[in-house]
Parts: sequence; structure tokens; C-alpha cells
Amino acid sequence: MTKAKTAKPKPSDLAFNRSIDFEYGALAEVAPGVRRLVANNPGPFTYTGTNTYVLGSGEVAVIDPGPADPAHLDDLLSALKGERISHIFLTHTHRDHSDLIEPLKSATGAKVMGYGPTDAPRGFATTGPTSNDFVDHDFSPDRELRTGDSVKGGTWALDAIHTPGHAPDHLCFALQGTRMVFTGDHIMGWNTTVIAPPEGNMGAYIGSLECLLDRYDVAFFPGHGGRIKSPRRVVRAYLMHRKWREASIRACLGDGLEFIPQIVPRIYANLDENLVGAAALSVLAHLEHLVEREVVVCDGPPSIEAAFSLL
Ligand SMILES: [Zn+2]
Repeated sequence: MTKAKTAKPKPSDLAFNRSIDFEYGALAEVAPGVRRLVANNPGPFTYTGTNTYVLGSGEVAVIDPGPADPAHLDDLLSALKGERISHIFLTHTHRDHSDLIEPLKSATGAKVMGYGPTDAPRGFATTGPTSNDFVDHDFSPDRELRTGDSVKGGTWALDAIHTPGHAPDHLCFALQGTRMVFTGDHIMGWNTTVIAPPEGNMGAYIGSLECLLDRYDVAFFPGHGGRIKSPRRVVRAYLMHRKWREASIRACLGDGLEFIPQIVPRIYANLDENLVGAAALSVLAHLEHLVEREVVVCDGPPSIEAAFSLL
């Protein structure tokens, strides 16, 4: 009997869903009990802007207040006139998600919930999507959340899931009574997530992808971009994409390319020059993960300048 052959999808086929139906300034329902306001901070790392979600009605919760943009705060507060914001949740301390926390807290008296400080190194010395300037080092929640912690409000309840990788303090939030998860920057349908050391950690990221595979969700709502309708398929595709990327880096090392600036142009075709720095950091994240597993050796602590070779 001949086995049926199934074509293995190539990671280069990673199908991004770039559709998002929205209007700046308009708080719109995206699922029963879930509304979204997109901040007007579009860019190569933020896509159409940061998504601020509102849960429930009457007494509501906000996930990720967004960047330091007074117009975004005004839009949120005027759209919620007559309702009360009791809780503010933060997926992670990157400023495009967290800068409006303090102004929103002082306007509403809401309690702030997030992971809180970690022991992990934060930020990066140069500019970039997870640079030092991009990390909100002063975040101090009223309640620190860990995996399994639940918070209940008026018409909603959320479960926290710690998903380090993009940032060490990253949390996803599952909306109880539904199979919907707010994924922040952990999973975004419009692009792969930036994993830039030391802020980002590839081993942790892959573990955090796998932990979402154990769930049977029907929708993810990311921090940037539109709703993700087939979560497990997307998580599996992202895991495969990282495996494929790692294999290409190992192939480069096998060909005698020792340095990250030699590897980047080989594995990223037609890379936008604004994204070269982020690509180099992503390669570093993979190399760190290979060094941790003793597959690759480095001539010192892994860094952008270091020389790497297969063990
Ligand atoms: Zn982020």
C-alpha cells in the first residue's frame, strides 16, 4: 500500500493575514463583549498601530492603553462616557502598549494589572523595536499576575498566561467563558514577532508558542493587526518558521559563515534596510538558543560582533 503524500508547507509560505477593518478614533466591537480602538502609531513594527481592547460593558477593563498619544486617550475616554474603567491590563512593558497607563489610571482610578519586574536583562543599547528607550522600566502594577491567576470584573473575567520570549514580562490573557485570547506581541497575524536579545529570548519564545498549542482557542486578538481566526494553525506555522530559520542559520555556519553580518543577507532576501538591525538581532537570538543547547560555540559571550561555529 502506498502512503498518501502530504506536501509539507514551507515556512517561506507563512501566510500573514494583514486584513484589519478599523477606523482611527472609533471604538468598535470585534467580538461579543470585546471592543477595539486602534492607536494612530502605525510603523514597521506596529503595523496599523497598537490595539487597545475594552472588555465588557458598564464596568469595563482595558487591555494595553497604548502609546503616549493624548488623542488616543481622549478617544478612549469619550467612547466610554457613561461607563467605568475598573481595571487596566498590560501585556508587556513596551512603550507602544504601556505609555498611556499612568494618564488613564489618573483619569479613572482603575487598578493596573501586569507581570511586574523580572530578573531578566531588559532593553538593548542601540535603537530598535526592543531598544532600551522602548522598554518601560518604571512599570509597577497594583497586582502582579502569573500563569493561572484570574481577575474578575463587572461582566468579564480574564486568566493570565505568562508567555516570555518577545519580552520577559509578556502575558497573554484568556477571556473566560470564550475561547479567545489577547496575545499582545507574542502572536501577531500580520508578521512574525521580533525576538531581539537581551530583551527577547528565543528558547523562552518557542516554549511560550508551545504552551498556546495545548489550548484549543478559536480566536486570538493581537496587540497589532486584526483577529487571528485559526490560532492553532498559526502557532504551528510560527513554530515551523522558527525551526526553518534555525536550520538556515546552521547551514550558513556549515558553509563557514561565522559572523552575523554575513548570515543576515544570506537568509533574508530583499530585506528592507530599516529592518536589517532587527534581522541581525533575530539571528543572534537563534544563535544564543543554539549555544544554550551546545549545538554551536561562540568565541565569547554571544553578541552581534562575535564569531560562531558549529560544534
Ligand atoms: Zn512589544
